[in-house]
Amino acid sequence: MTQSDRKKGALLVLNSGSSSVKFTVFQVNPDASGDEALSPFFAGQLDGIGSSAKLKAKAATKELLADESWEHLDQGTVPAILPHLLEWIEKNLPADLPLLAAGHRVVHGGQLFNKPVLLNGEIIEQLSEFIPLAPLHQPQNLAAIRTLAESRPELPQVACFDTAFHQTMPEVSSTYGIPDELTQEGIRRYGFHGLSYEFIAHHMRETFPDVAKGRVVVAHLGSGASLAALQDGVSVDTSMGFSALDGIPMGTRPGSMDAGILIHLMRHHKMSADELEKMLYYKCGLLGISGLSNDMRDIQASEDPKAKLAEEIFCMKAAKTITSLATSMDGIDALVFTAGIGEHSPSIRAKIASHLKWIGVELDDAKNDANDLHIEADGSLPVFVIPTDEEFMIASHTLKLQSA
Ligand code: ADP
Repeated sequence: MTQSDRKKGALLVLNSGSSSVKFTVFQVNPDASGDEALSPFFAGQLDGIGSSAKLKAKAATKELLADESWEHLDQGTVPAILPHLLEWIEKNLPADLPLLAAGHRVVHGGQLFNKPVLLNGEIIEQLSEFIPLAPLHQPQNLAAIRTLAESRPELPQVACFDTAFHQTMPEVSSTYGIPDELTQEGIRRYGFHGLSYEFIAHHMRETFPDVAKGRVVVAHLGSGASLAALQDGVSVDTSMGFSALDGIPMGTRPGSMDAGILIHLMRHHKMSADELEKMLYYKCGLLGISGLSNDMRDIQASEDPKAKLAEEIFCMKAAKTITSLATSMDGIDALVFTAGIGEHSPSIRAKIASHLKWIGVELDDAKNDANDLHIEADGSLPVFVIPTDEEFMIASHTLKLQSA
């Protein structure tokens, strides 16, 4: 679509989970080019779906637009609640900003989708075939898509996948050491957080084109955490795998672990698949090790030795993963920290960097403490702190595809 074909209006970006729907509305500026074509207008979150529904929303100017209980929708499901949210969103849009399209974060695109896609009935059915690959998230993503398709059939909808960006990984990175027939069945490394890595690659290409052409390890450290190796902005390896459990320990997930533990738990603790799933997604990681919290801020504020251990393990595993991903590229030209912990915690970045002196990483304490864009010391490998923006990436794809 050319710039002149663009209509003035708004795009809705949705990230739908089991108990919450996060939304961001972007204004489309038809006369602007590049990233300026989109500006955030307002954003919010509907929490407590299935229990006590609450809406909170803020304008891009930070003005509070809503902080209210939606008691009339208590115990409601996503299909029951989403039309009300859409009504609220449209009521809060000026008349000259009609909703043009909706973009969804969808966790899994399987091996079929290596880029975002404009949705239709057939594609929605194909996406439901990937539910076994992401049983906790894919159904919630699809529930929102189906609800909008029913209530607003004329509204174009676009799916943007967490896995798509990593479809460029070579087989040497994506293949597990398992029998080939299982690999052919789709048991392989897919990788996640792809929209975040795509944003970082895009941002680096715009801002530091020379560095972006090189070998960059990106550490997306949030409550879910993964790392990726980008060569010329393309994913060649990543720490998450078949599921979002692989890689480094996270808020409540363990990261990679000996598969023998699962056999032991099934055989001697008689744990079922559902029990294992609950434990691995919600009871491990920082929370499991510390017994205290899944939030890195609580872990760092605590003097409890188990909290200290959780922090040490997180940093050591992140550093080991950085060197392992560098090996996938035969070297490293730059390191990027992003997401909640990566963007906001100087002490975690410093602890990770303290294990990486031998590959040439050294931080400038003052720049690191200030969360500067460049935080490396003189003579060190370049180290960046770049805030990620998955919502912008979804809006940008939605803008391109909605009238393609
Ligand atoms: P997600 O999108 O995966 O839910 P975020 O990228 O928003 O997560 O990261 C959330 C996490 O970031 C929080 O759980 C918290 O542990 C961490 N975090 C945020 N700010 C800080 C900070 N100043 N210091 C340490 N950790 C922080």
